[in-house]
Amino acid sequence: MAPIGQTARVSAALVAGLTLGLGLGLTGTAALGQRETTQRLNPQERTLDANLFVQTSAEYVACCLQAYAWASERLRQRLAAAPPSERPPAVIMDLDETVLDNAGFQSFLDRESKPYESAAWNRWERDFPTEMRLVPGAKGFIEEAERAGVTVFYISNRVLSEPTITALRHNGLSTENIGERLLLQTDTADKTARRKAVEEKYRVLLYVGDNLRDFSEIFVTPALAPPEAIAARRALVERYAYRFGADWLILPNPVYGEWKTPLGNEPRRFLRPTKME
Ligand SMILES: [Mg+2]
Repeated sequence: MAPIGQTARVSAALVAGLTLGLGLGLTGTAALGQRETTQRLNPQERTLDANLFVQTSAEYVACCLQAYAWASERLRQRLAAAPPSERPPAVIMDLDETVLDNAGFQSFLDRESKPYESAAWNRWERDFPTEMRLVPGAKGFIEEAERAGVTVFYISNRVLSEPTITALRHNGLSTENIGERLLLQTDTADKTARRKAVEEKYRVLLYVGDNLRDFSEIFVTPALAPPEAIAARRALVERYAYRFGADWLILPNPVYGEWKTPLGNEPRRFLRPTKME
């Protein structure tokens, strides 16, 4: 993937505990004890509801099925509209949280009270491909595309091809000619060059992802102060609204992604202000 922005939060309990300790005039030793206690808080606490939404809600399943049903419809429409002499048709898909469901990795982080670490992700990617499942609707869409003669390319920022192929095969997806269709990360997480390589030979009908950078690098978080970076990303999506649902199809990912990058360790400050008392 790799997940971005999975930072530990300063929990309300930590702040409350330290404030209480100071307010009661506790000694330095007591305050230290409080700090040690709070350091043991699970850094995944902030992500718990997002994980549960993905892992338990019927609404998440419905969102994914809706996205893939519309992707299939758009595929049929775009295929019917394609001039016969065009380059062969293709779709470009991201893998993690677009095709492959890595909920098991998130469960590991939560169980072990760990923040996201690339070393742990690398172990998941390498050693646990048979624990990866499929995002709802992905298989039906992929198989429909393949039946229609559309080549499915996977452009992913994973780095290991063999376990990734194992994960696809284990979930019953075709791995025919996969060596040409699986474009993993080599030197950069920027997918532009890999997309371009496909676009030069194929007429890409659809792009499917869970992160805006699966569609274009224009969505990389800009080097601005966080509030401006957040506003800039949202404004860009408004500007490119005509692409979403047309040839850019996005899946929900409330757990991790580019969207978390500007939030940092004090996400609550980005909640919309209100006059309500
Ligand atoms: Mg992804």
